[in-house]
Amino acid sequence: PESITVGELALRLKATAAEVIKKLMANGVFASINDEVDFDTASVVAMEFHAKVEKEVEVTIEEQIIDDSEDTDADLETRAPVVVVMGHVDHGKTSLLDAIRHTNVTESEAGGITQHIGAYQVNLDGRMVTFLDTPGHEAFTTMRARGAMATDIAVLVVAADDGVMPQTVEAIHHAKAAKVNIIVAINKIDKPGANPEHVMEELTKYELVPEEWGGDVPCIRVSAKQKTGIKDLLEMILLVADMKELKANPNRAAKGVVIEARLDKGRGPIATMLVQNGTLHIGDIIVAGTSVGRVRAMASASGKEIEAAAPSVPVEITGLDSVPTGGDTFNAVSDERLARQLVEQRRTAQKEELFNSRTKVTLDNLFEQM
Ligand code: GDP
Ligand code: MG
Repeated sequence: PESITVGELALRLKATAAEVIKKLMANGVFASINDEVDFDTASVVAMEFHAKVEKEVEVTIEEQIIDDSEDTDADLETRAPVVVVMGHVDHGKTSLLDAIRHTNVTESEAGGITQHIGAYQVNLDGRMVTFLDTPGHEAFTTMRARGAMATDIAVLVVAADDGVMPQTVEAIHHAKAAKVNIIVAINKIDKPGANPEHVMEELTKYELVPEEWGGDVPCIRVSAKQKTGIKDLLEMILLVADMKELKANPNRAAKGVVIEARLDKGRGPIATMLVQNGTLHIGDIIVAGTSVGRVRAMASASGKEIEAAAPSVPVEITGLDSVPTGGDTFNAVSDERLARQLVEQRRTAQKEELFNSRTKVTLDNLFEQM
């Protein structure tokens, strides 16, 4: 058959004719109960009903296992700022992250372990700052946008001898879209051709007015190479963090974001996660995108085995059943059975999405899936 009546379609979808007619109208097709619609049109309607059913079930399980309650003021405690370093290629992002890392007192005390997990924390006079070591120009635009979402402050690196370049502008747009505070690090001030004032002038074209010119954008002159200005930059980060009054509730089930993940031959899936609220413990059941599992081992960014991770703490964990995707959110949950069910559903939905994007769905194979 090439077509189906609206009434028949409603029966098959276990919907009322009125619901089907409404859906058809939303798709620009005006038909009554006895009218026939072609199979392409019917598939579109069927898919919409189908998708809706799937979504509702998922929400129900999510609601059951994921604690989405609001924290009261009394629950909240100050947390460390999460900072991302952005900027044009070769302006010194990696060098600056390295220079900052080396000011880390805790780390030098620990013998300078420099394990790369995509994030790290530095300690300035007893206060912590979390840095996300986002990929540079090779990273996809979307990844960078994701990175910015997990962050409070963006340090925009601009080389004093080169000025504002295309990826500088791109970074400014991402930071503004993510509504994070921007601190400019004018780098390479040791170079003979360095002209910090010119950089600041260029920045005003993008509505970034330096504090010293009456605006609200801190501009710190640094040299990642000579390691000058690094402490000023960290102090500014803490000052901005104070103004933002960054807080979280350490006494609830953990939730956060996956920074990066990979498969290790011996240890299985390994994920770097940033805890955004709550505290993550060894043994917690977590759902991360379409991955699920119990936290088996947890290490800090400096490679130390830890038992628990509070808000703003990046950790590397093992115990997931598959490798999650960077940018996935994660939640610690109490019901392992439901957690596995939720992940099963997400996997099915993901497969279907992939399938639908590849194959033109006909009513027949759609009904097979139902
Ligand atoms: P990225 O692409 O932004 O990560 O930039 P890199 O950190 O890789 O730096 C690019 C180049 O600039 C390297 O050759 C660095 O040694 C150099 N560089 C970075 N910071 C400074 C600085 O403060 N002064 C000088 N003179 N060179 C720097
Ligand atoms: Mg780099």
